[in-house]
Amino acid sequence: MKLVLIGPPGSGKGTQAVKIRERYDIPHLSSGDVLRKEASAGTEFGKKIKPYMESGEIGPAELITDVILHYIEEHCPDGFILDGFPRTLYQAEKLGDAHDIKAAIFIDVSEREIVSRITGRRMCRNCNIIYHVTNKPPRVENTCDKCGLPLYQRPDDNEETIINRIQVYNKETKPVLDYYREAGTLRTMNGERDTDTIFSDIVKLIG
Ligand code: AMP
Repeated sequence: MKLVLIGPPGSGKGTQAVKIRERYDIPHLSSGDVLRKEASAGTEFGKKIKPYMESGEIGPAELITDVILHYIEEHCPDGFILDGFPRTLYQAEKLGDAHDIKAAIFIDVSEREIVSRITGRRMCRNCNIIYHVTNKPPRVENTCDKCGLPLYQRPDDNEETIINRIQVYNKETKPVLDYYREAGTLRTMNGERDTDTIFSDIVKLIG
């Protein structure tokens, strides 16, 4: 099963990807997580992409595409849920050359909803579970319900960077929707419903 999740920042891709992984045992690959790990490990590649991530820009397209495709080959060549990749038409085409994508699930959320979602977002590095300070608070403040480790806020989850990330999404990622629409694999979900309702639609689609 090779799936792609597409949506603006804060649309709930990561949350749905974790649910799909848990239900179907399909590996979840978040390009943002891969790049963040490289950046915090201070590898040569990490140093190159860090400034782009801090400002919410798309990094060097070919380099990032090579890294993610290589990562897929190494970890999950037979099935995956991609979250955050492809983000440009170039990436979608390169992915399509190497893999037959069963469905591209587009989680549609309006811009006004995104800013409030992202500024309140808190994450667990260990479990990839995503919380929200008011919409989905952990049982104990700032602590992951599952593993008990402290939550963190991504440095690019601030209002200024979010505005830029939305602009980048509109310019670079929207053409990816047309790419999958033309391929007949695009499935659109209203992302402004509760996460379980969206997930049950995804289950129907995958099933
Ligand atoms: P995300 O966790 O998906 O919001 O990604 C965080 C940041 O990582 C983005 O703002 C980009 O700077 C970078 N990034 C993630 N995925 C990609 C990608 N597929 N292509 C280029 N840059 C990416």
